Amino acid sequence: MARLCFDYGHGGQDSGACYKGRKESNDVLSLGKSVAAEVRQHGITVDETRTSDTTVSLGERSNFENRNTYDYFISFHRNAFKPEKARGAETYTYLSARIKAKALAGKIQAGLVSIGFVNRGVKTANYHVLRETRCPAVLIEMGFIDSTNDNNLFDVKRNEIIREIAKAILSQLGIGYKENKSNEATPQQKQQAASGQTGMSTFF
Ligand SMILES: [Zn+2]
Repeated sequence: MARLCFDYGHGGQDSGACYKGRKESNDVLSLGKSVAAEVRQHGITVDETRTSDTTVSLGERSNFENRNTYDYFISFHRNAFKPEKARGAETYTYLSARIKAKALAGKIQAGLVSIGFVNRGVKTANYHVLRETRCPAVLIEMGFIDSTNDNNLFDVKRNEIIREIAKAILSQLGIGYKENKSNEATPQQKQQAASGQTGMSTFF
């Protein structure tokens, strides 16, 4: 069975990028953990370099990954530039990334763009967590934290972002995406709707 390593950027003493009281470290922890939960529902093991607001060095992150054999390493971040001057999503692989990493990055990027993020493309970078990890690794920049537009997307389309990233990962692993059961109507609700009972029409 597939095994993934999720890495939520920054944390603890390092807030990452901040804008109007919003911290990158919180955004990526919250969203990344939800993606992990979604992926685990499909029977996949997900290990995480941090699960709370704690300080974790870059070396500790890559050492964590090096201790096990993973199918993919996925690092979650949010971008920053100058207030309200840039927007969009981009996904990174290492300079000499293998085909698998590039394929996963392409799928994640396409998923984020389908939600409405401006497409800044799949890029390469000499980042520590991409260079010092052993398995295929990608780093996602989920919009700019100093863009009101991107923050609105991040908040309003939160569930879609979680779903699209989970779908991209599962697709890369050759596993079909199944909608979370708790979001589906129960057989009883479906029956009521089919027979025109109660006010269930809005449910569908
Ligand atoms: Zn970051």
